[in-house]
Amino acid sequence: MSWIDRVRKSIPFIAKRETPDNLWHKCAGCGQMVFVKEYEENQSVCPKCDHHGRIGPDARFNALFDGGVYTLLPAPAVREDPLKFRDSKRYTDRIKAARAATGEQDALVNAKGQIEGKRAVVGVQDFAFMGGSMGLGVGAAFVAGAEAAIADRCPYIIFTAAGGARMQEGILSLMQMPKTTVAIEMLREARLPYIVVLTDPTTGGVTASYAMLGDVQIAEPGALIGFAGQRVIEQTIREKLPPGFQRAEYLLDHGMLDMVTHRHKLRETLATLVDYLVPEPA
Ligand SMILES: [Zn+2]
Repeated sequence: MSWIDRVRKSIPFIAKRETPDNLWHKCAGCGQMVFVKEYEENQSVCPKCDHHGRIGPDARFNALFDGGVYTLLPAPAVREDPLKFRDSKRYTDRIKAARAATGEQDALVNAKGQIEGKRAVVGVQDFAFMGGSMGLGVGAAFVAGAEAAIADRCPYIIFTAAGGARMQEGILSLMQMPKTTVAIEMLREARLPYIVVLTDPTTGGVTASYAMLGDVQIAEPGALIGFAGQRVIEQTIREKLPPGFQRAEYLLDHGMLDMVTHRHKLRETLATLVDYLVPEPA
């Protein structure tokens, strides 16, 4: 640690930077250095090895909606910290820190706009916000997104990224599983498509509920998708798991997904699907 880092660390009110402020990005796939500007212009896909980096709602909406034009839906108000939970830090402090770092209210953000001229409501889960974890806020945002799609007679498209349920909300976070499932049923009854795009990583209670209930299941290349982690499964069944286990391509080969789509092709793929699946107004 250099002296300047030591000084920075000793001053408590200087927040640790969450975003790199340098010019280079080190690819998590191939380990090569890429220009941040070039990397971001490539939608955070490594130009050398095609590794898909994690992106948040802003980048996703900009890449997806026509001309980068969209309207954010307001985040629904929910009861905060219902269990007055505290571990090494207070849960309210963790939320505050996540809000300051991301500028988002909670880990799921909805927006509406047009994809190649077709209306859609799109929800994006942000892994940077407490691991994209599903609590009351995410559940309420999911229901709000589904309701907005029903009101607009358009599909609801969700980009999932989550470590699972938000443990600080105990059983209330698990109750979001049936709650979101009911919201998907509402879309079914309204005969509107619900499309899931699984991004890296989608695990735990999110995989066990709305992430696997899409009319069409798409995943980004190389995305980790699973319920329990690989090590937990290996210790339970006492067997070595096959290579590529829980990756998008493996799940596609085993019939769990409909397609694995490159990030650069997502916009046109979603536009085609929406065109097929949404009936023309009479
Ligand atoms: Zn790379």
